[in-house]
Amino acid sequence: MKTLHTLSTTELRWLVSELNTERARLDRALALADFDPKEIAVGVHTETAARRDALVAALDRIGAGTYGACERCYQDIPYGRLMVVPEATLCVACLAGS
Ligand SMILES: [Zn+2]
Repeated sequence: MKTLHTLSTTELRWLVSELNTERARLDRALALADFDPKEIAVGVHTETAARRDALVAALDRIGAGTYGACERCYQDIPYGRLMVVPEATLCVACLAGS
């Protein structure tokens, strides 16, 4: 099973690029909401801010070398899950058990 620790430098750079692109998109959405709060519903604004914060935390974990490890069982989170939910902090087994 492919995990973060088996990613090539190119794959890791791609992931960081994707996270930064998504973070920038969410930052723009939040900036627009600050400019005109009616443009975005409060619930969506909260969700957007939470996702942006989760992406920033994921980027921090990549920088710290702890990205891709489950916070509960410390096993590697499968690469496929990280591609779908890059900000994931739990593996599927721990998520299901929580
Ligand atoms: Zn786990």
